[in-house]
Amino acid sequence: MKTRHETESFCNNNPRHPEQNDYACEWPDCDHTGSYRAPRSRDEINSYRWFCLDHIRLVNKSWNYYEGMDDDAVESDRRYDVVGRRPSWKLGTSGPSLNPEFIHDPMHILHGKQDHKPAQCKPVSPPISKDEENAYSVLGIDYPVSTNDLKSRYKKLVKLHHPDANKGSKKSEEKIKKINRAYHILRDASNSRIHTN
Ligand SMILES: [Zn+2]
Repeated sequence: MKTRHETESFCNNNPRHPEQNDYACEWPDCDHTGSYRAPRSRDEINSYRWFCLDHIRLVNKSWNYYEGMDDDAVESDRRYDVVGRRPSWKLGTSGPSLNPEFIHDPMHILHGKQDHKPAQCKPVSPPISKDEENAYSVLGIDYPVSTNDLKSRYKKLVKLHHPDANKGSKKSEEKIKKINRAYHILRDASNSRIHTN
C-alpha cells in the first residue's frame, strides 16, 4: 500500500479532509485503506465513497455502467460482481492493463492520456498475384472489381475485339485470347477468395 505522502501526491487534485484518513475501502471484503474518493452519484457529487487504488479504478471503469442505478442496486451489483462476475485476474496484481480510453476518469487519478486515439484502420487489400495484376491491365480495370463489373467489362471487350467484328483480323484473335485468359484468371481468383474467406 502507498504511504500517505505518496497517495496525496499521486492524487493531489483530490485533497481529503484529515479526519477521513482512516476510511476503509468500501469495496466488499477489501481491507485496504480507502485513499481515493469517488462521487456517490452524478446527483450527489459532494458525497463520496472511498476506495483503495485498485478499486477506485474499477469504480471509475464502471461509472457509466452504474449510472441511473440507486445505491442499493449498485451495492448488490457490486457484490454480485465480486462473487459472480469475478475477474479472472487477482485484484491488486497486474492483470490486464486498463485501457485509459475506456475509463471514465474525471479526477485524472489514473493519469491516463485522454488524447489517446485508436489507430487508424487502413483497409488492407489482399495481395494479388502478378498474373492477376496483368489480367487487370489487359482488361483495363483497377483492382478490386466486383464479379458483375468484371463480367460486363469482359463482354464489352469481347464484343469490341471479336474477330467477326474485325474482319477476322489475326490481331483481334490474339487480343480476344488475352482477354479470355485475363477474365478467367480474375474470375477464378475472385471465386477462390469468396470460398476461402
Ligand atoms: Zn479496495
